[in-house]
Order: sequence, then C-alpha cells, then structure tokens
Amino acid sequence: MRILKIQTLRGPNYWSIRRHKLIVMRLDLENLAETPSNEIPGFYEGLVEALPSLEGHYCSPGCRGGFLMRVREGTMMGHIVEHVALELQELAGMHVGFGRTRETATPGIFQVVIEYLNEEAGRYAGRAAVRLCQSIADRGRYPKAELEQDIQDLKDFWRDSSLGPSTEAIVKEAEKRGIPWMQLSARFLIQLGYGVNQKRMQATMTHNTGILGVELACDKEATKRILAAAGAPVPRGTVINFLDDLEEAIEYVGGYPIVIKPLDGNHGRGITIDIRTWEEAEAAYEAARQVSRSIIVEKYYVGRDHRVLVVNGKVVAVAERVPAHIVGNGRSTIAELIEETNQDPNRGEGHDNVLTKIELDRTSYQLLERQGYTLNSVPPRDTICYLRATANLSTGGSAVDRTDEIHPENIWLAQRVVRIIGLDVAGLDIVTTDISRPLREMDGVIVEVNAAPGFRMHVAPSQGIPRNVAGAVMDMLFPNEQPSRIPILSVTGTNGKTTTTRLLAHIYKQTGKVVGYTTTDGTYIGDFLVEAGDNTGPQSAHVILQDPTVEVAVLESARGGILRSGLGFESANVGIVLNVAADHLGIGDIDTIDQLANLKSVVAEAVFPDGYAVLNADDRRVAAMAQKTKANVAYFTMNPDSELVRQHIQKGGVAAIYENGYLSIVKGDWTHRIERAENIPLTMGGRAPFMIANALAAALAAFVQNVTIEQIRAGLKTFRASVSQTPGRMNLFNLGNYHALVDYAHNPASYEALGSFVRNWNTGARIGVVGGPGDRRDEDFVTLGKLAADIFDYIIVKEDDDTRGRPRGSASELITEGIIQVNRDARYEVIMDETAAINKALDTAPDNGLVVILPESVNRAIKLIKVRGLVKEEIQQN
Ligand code: ATP
Ligand code: ATP
Ligand code: MG
Ligand code: MG
Repeated sequence: MRILKIQTLRGPNYWSIRRHKLIVMRLDLENLAETPSNEIPGFYEGLVEALPSLEGHYCSPGCRGGFLMRVREGTMMGHIVEHVALELQELAGMHVGFGRTRETATPGIFQVVIEYLNEEAGRYAGRAAVRLCQSIADRGRYPKAELEQDIQDLKDFWRDSSLGPSTEAIVKEAEKRGIPWMQLSARFLIQLGYGVNQKRMQATMTHNTGILGVELACDKEATKRILAAAGAPVPRGTVINFLDDLEEAIEYVGGYPIVIKPLDGNHGRGITIDIRTWEEAEAAYEAARQVSRSIIVEKYYVGRDHRVLVVNGKVVAVAERVPAHIVGNGRSTIAELIEETNQDPNRGEGHDNVLTKIELDRTSYQLLERQGYTLNSVPPRDTICYLRATANLSTGGSAVDRTDEIHPENIWLAQRVVRIIGLDVAGLDIVTTDISRPLREMDGVIVEVNAAPGFRMHVAPSQGIPRNVAGAVMDMLFPNEQPSRIPILSVTGTNGKTTTTRLLAHIYKQTGKVVGYTTTDGTYIGDFLVEAGDNTGPQSAHVILQDPTVEVAVLESARGGILRSGLGFESANVGIVLNVAADHLGIGDIDTIDQLANLKSVVAEAVFPDGYAVLNADDRRVAAMAQKTKANVAYFTMNPDSELVRQHIQKGGVAAIYENGYLSIVKGDWTHRIERAENIPLTMGGRAPFMIANALAAALAAFVQNVTIEQIRAGLKTFRASVSQTPGRMNLFNLGNYHALVDYAHNPASYEALGSFVRNWNTGARIGVVGGPGDRRDEDFVTLGKLAADIFDYIIVKEDDDTRGRPRGSASELITEGIIQVNRDARYEVIMDETAAINKALDTAPDNGLVVILPESVNRAIKLIKVRGLVKEEIQQN
C-alpha cells in the first residue's frame, strides 16, 4: 500500500457537514487491490491478535463484532485501514467514531476518511494504520513493541495539544453556548466569537483585564500597601535587598514564626513558610534569592489556605487548598506512600491534569524532620504527613470546594479588594483558620491577589462539587446573550462567485456596516484591499472572521478550498449557490458533475436552521439542494413562470425573480420591484442575463438578512465592476465607432453566459477572437467552436502562447471543428498569434460592432485596446 496524499479538513466538508475534523487519505492499495481480507492467509487472526478491541466496532452489520465479521468474510484493505486508524486513536484516549471509505474512479485507489481530535495524531494514526495492516498482510503480525510505540506517540500528540485546564474549561463553556472559538497564531490567545463581536482570552485573562490591575497584582508589596491603606487585612511585612537587613526585618514583623518569599514570584516558587530559627531564615533567604532580587519578609499566619475566585465583581468559587500530603496506613514507608499517591491517573505533570504529581524539594525534608520522620519512616494508620508547606496545586496540592461555606463578610471583603486592585477575574489567596467566620475575627489575612488565576481547583476539585466558573466569565464577556457572531454570507457556484460576492458586499455596505469579503482576487475590508491573491479558502475566511473591525463577512467559497480543507466556519447565515456546471472535473477525485454538485452543496447545507440557502431555481442540481439543507430556502430565477418558484411562494417562501424587465423580490402576496435591469450597470444595460442572475442572488441574500429594498436598490445601481477591480470579467470598452469586450470565460457554461450577452448585441456585427487554455478537454474546445459559430458573425481562432502541453495547432483545429459542425458556411479564419489576432479584429471592426476577446493574457489584450486612443470603459460611465 502507498499513501498518495493526506489532507486535513477543519470545517464542514464534502464528507460531512457536522464532522469538521477529518483526515482524508488517498491510498493506493497496490498489490492488495485485488485481494479482499478473507483471501489473505492469517490476516483476520493477525488483526484480532494485534487489536482485539476492534471487536467493539459495529460497522454495517450494526452489532458488536460487526466489523470483524466483515474482515472475516472479506472486505477491502482501505476499509480496514479506516477502522484501524480510528481504533488506534481510541486506544490513545481520543474518542473518534466517524469514518468512510470510497474507491475512486481509478481502480485500486481509495479515499479513506477518518475523524480526529488532534490533527497530528489523526495523520499519524492514518499512517500507522497503513503500516499495521501492511505488516499483518505480509507477515501475519504487527510487533507488539511497535504498536505500543504508536499508541504512546499518539498519546504524546494528544497531551501536547491540550490547552490547559483553565482554557479547556472556557472553550467547553463557549461551545455549550454556541460561541465559536479559535486559537490565534501566537501567545496562546483564544478568540471567542467573530469579527467585531469577538472577545479574546489568554488563560484566564480577558479582553477586559486591565494592565494596571495586572501589574499591581503581580507586585505583591504594592498590592499589600494599597490594600493596607484601604483597611483590608494583609500580612505584616517588609521588603529587603540584602541579607544584612534580615535580622531587623524579622524584628519588624514581630519575630518568629515568619515567611520569606521572592517579591516577584508565583506558583509557590522560592517560598519558605513557618520559619522558626535563624538558620532556617538564612537558608530561606538564599532560596528566595534564586527567584527574585528583592525579598519579602512576613509574619507567618497560622491557618488554612484558601483561594477565592472573583469574576466580574462577584465571588463565584472558593476552594481550600491542601498541601501535598500522604496518609499513613501503618504498613508502607513515606517514600512508598508518595509513589502510590502519584500512581493516581488524575495526577499528571505540570498543569495538564486535575492534580499534579507530588515532588519533594528542600522544604519537604525540613517539614518531615519537624514531624519527626524520614522518607523511610512508616507513619501510623490515618495520620496525615505533609510534604509541602504551601498548597499550590502545581506542587502536588489538592483542593476542597468551600463555596457554600464562606462568610458573607468575607464575600464582601473579597469583592471589594478585587475592585480596589482593578481586575475582572482575580484569585485571592486568603489564610485563615475558618473561612466561614469573618477574617477580622480569626486574624486571617489576604496574602495575595492573583491576576489570571487558574480554574483547575474550582472546575475539578478533589473534594466537593465542581463550579462552573467559566460560565461566569462567559456571562461577563457576552452578557444577556449579546451576539458573539457576525453574519456570514457564503457564495459558491461554478461561475459568477467573485462578481456576486463583490456585489453583495457592496449592497451590504449601503447599511453602513463594515463588510469583510474574500474573493479569487483578494481579501478586502470595507473599501480596502487587505491582501491580493486567490483567497477563497478557509485561511482567508479566518482573516475576515478574526478582524475586530468586521461587522459582516461575505465569503467566496470555491471548490478547491472546500475540497482541500473544508469551510472556514461552521455555519453561515446565508449560503448562496449560483450554478453547477462542468469545470475542473477529474481534479481531486471529483469526476462527475453530480459529485461537483455534492461538493458545492456544502455551502447550502452549512447554514444555521434559521438562516437561508439562496438557490438558483433554474439549475436543477442547485434547486435540488433544497432537499439537503436544514435552513430556509430562498430561490432566484430568470424565469417568471417557474413552476418550482410559484409553488415555493405559495407555501410562503421568498424568491427573487426577473420579471418584465425588473429585478423583484416576491414574498407572500407582494412583489417588491427593486430596479429595472437596464438601470443596473452590472447587467450591461440589461443585456447580460447571467449578470442579472448574479444580481438576483445578491439582492435576495441581502433581503433575507433584512437589508431594505432601498438599500439593495442603491447597491445595485452604484456597483461597477471596473477593469481595475475585475480585470477580465466582462470588461466592455467604448472605442468610439465600435465596442470591445474582454472576458476570461474559461468553461462551457461561461461561454454560454457570454454568448447570451453577445446575442443581445443588436446594433452591429459581432466578431469573436476565441481560444482557450490547452489543459481543457478536447470537447470543451469543440463546444467553444460551436458556440462561437452560433453567436458571432465573424470568428478569429487563435491559440495561447503557452499551450500547456497541447501540440500547437490542436486547439484551433478542435475549435474549427466545432464551428463547422454548426455552420458549414461560417466566416472564420485562424491566426495562431494572439496579438496579431486581436489587432486584426480591432483593425477590421465595423461601425457599431462588437469585438469579443477571450484572451490568454487579459492585461495584454486590454493594452492592445487602450493604445487605440480614446477609450472609455463603458461600464464605468453607466
Ligand atoms: P501562587 O501564585 O500559586 O498563589 P505565590 O508564589 O504567588 O503562589 P503566595 O500566594 O504569596 O505565593 O504564597 C503561597 C502560599 O504560601 C499561600 O497561598 C499561603 O498558603 C502561604 N503563605 C504565604 N504567605 C503567608 C503568610 N504570611 N502566612 C501564612 N501563609 C503564607
Ligand atoms: P473563478 O472560479 O475563476 O473564481 P468566479 O465563479 O468567481 O470564477 P467570476 O469571476 O464572477 O466567477 O466570473 C467569471 C466569468 O464567469 C465572468 O467573466 C463571466 O464570463 C462568467 N459568469 C459570471 N457569472 C456567471 C453566471 N451566473 N453564469 C455563467 N457564467 C457566469
Ligand atoms: Mg498565591
Ligand atoms: Mg472567483
């Protein structure tokens, strides 16, 4: 077997609208292409031995063992690879269930689709599955050590991709509320929502977290001063920079026991508490110096350690933090008990897991000594032996929820203190013997205020009930269901996408909103170009959705992008499908026009149920998408007598119709006339029917988004597709006595479209300069020839400079063939060289005639026209 290609999908896609995270592997079965599994000796047995858990896969028989039954009876290797790839991820702790396998048009080559949670793990699982299956097919077995390594590697990918417990809690809550989120490319920034409605977070710091509050909280000494000045209880203490000042400092705080800690530290690093002798104090000073230049000396307050979480001015959770400890059983040594405690699967490294493994440090041995133990002592049953002095989770501590126990006065105090520091999300460290009594009574103190406090101890306490603290953050960022999204309008079709996207963006601009849009020419925000290039994939969509100024997104969604990576968003408000015609067939295993329709249908299906699929009623494949989408349907049609549309309107549907020379919206009993086609510059005086169709689609999409008829009308009347904006798209030039049109029509459907315009040119003779890129199919050239014969009075056949591998003369021959098929007496000539052909046509253009040029190079063609003096771009003068 050989993997020919691996693609990673990240949004609604050809295979599934709902499953966004899919790996698509193009797999050549090679020598296994003709051999189903039952014909490979020992394969079934080898597979069951390597992965007995495949028993759990139902597959088509729909019962336990169903898949293995298929293997025994005989199934193709691609299908087996799919199941193995899913199972490998499952064994590494990633629950994935979706898979598909299809043979392509090339026998022996399959597309294997598997779900993933982590991209890298998904790709790895695909490759490992191929390795595993090949090995069992060749040798009857897959070495156990290799399988173990595969699963370990997969686990590592999964662990490394984890966002951390606080962020995890936040994105989970966002998902629950239907708020989209994405990871930005730097600094662990998470974006919640889209465009102008987005909010950002980094761990538990939010959009609203002020730098002054953070800086103040990070400066423990300043925090204490500000709080002391406000009358809040804080530890008595001082800051020193030299060991020489230590003695005096101890005296100042009232003598032992004391605490020594670095001025700028966190996670308990460099802290020693409950210091009782000068020797301990000296050692503690040195330890703190490792972390910070300046050192805090504080009075030690006896009590338990609490974390009070305040979000948006309210206490939302309280946890008591218990330092790392073990509980004696009367048999094991302390070392053994630590080992045992660390076996707990909830304990991981660092902040990844619910708890962190216990590690011993300098203070641990001191603590043990004070308790009269060494690592080899056997503490009596049920006695608690503390191993760390501070209760930070990251040093192996655990947490007990006390949210329901905190005294109201302490709540008031905590909320007041956080307001004084100026934070929207803050964690107070409070030392007191009993949090259910006022601090004042217990001689408790606020040791510190933390910006960006961790949520782990609240969402997953080791005892007590978990608190939805992320919900409180979400309530703050998106109060009263304030929108998190912006409207997304997505446009697809074989022809007219860019034009319609631009027009729709222009119409939307009439509402005063900032519109971000992407097309094959580039990405734009408002009137400005962000980036030039073919920007119709998901990355470009993200540029728009991540931009904090954008209020509406209009996205050209082209075939290639959907196929390669899926859509760049999960659902749109409006999905527009203009048409489906033969183009790019044979690329990316899309071989038939119906497959192409299925691909484009993704845009109609990935729409919110209360949104709209805007569909072309005149294109049967597009109209049929109405059956597949869960959204409302709105049709546009050039045919005022369309039966489909008539019925749709009767059932209360909305439609855009070209009737009696008008573009109209019909809804219920009423027809809202928007404008006469001839007053809409894009339709070239009403002579370009396909442009009328594009305009209907754009108008309808805007209408279902509640853009007013007046605004739609203003948009249609002022939109001009100029050469500078859209070179090669129906650029019409007035050369005084005659006109020239440059268009880069590149498939039969767009030739047809062009033809419909040319046929409407009634003032004079029509001359065509035609040819096409050499990599099109033979029949496309013949079609072009036929069409040309049908619409032009005189034809000049030319060829591209770059024939794209086609022998010179072949394209012109095929076009000529087409011409003759339609009209034996057609008037034509062949001039291979494009420049010469264009010049000949322009030189001989009759009065009031039209020269239509389908050039290889749009720029060159436009230059050749412009050197002829007084040229006006027709479409701009309206
Ligand atoms: P974190 O960032 O995890 O909160 P940190 O390194 O910022 O830790 P502090 O919060 O100042 O350090 O101290 C860590 C713990 O040490 C406190 O939560 C508390 O249990 C204990 N502690 C600190 N100062 C005192 C004190 N003066 N009296 C008693 N205990 C103290
Ligand atoms: P691409 O796939 O190259 O991005 P596109 O779908 O974005 O193309 P446009 O750039 O809007 O299409 O138009 C390209 C050409 O297609 C136009 O110049 C015109 O010849 C033709 N065309 C535009 N709209 C239609 C339509 N609705 N039906 C058929 N042909 C059309
Ligand atoms: Mg602290
Ligand atoms: Mg385009």
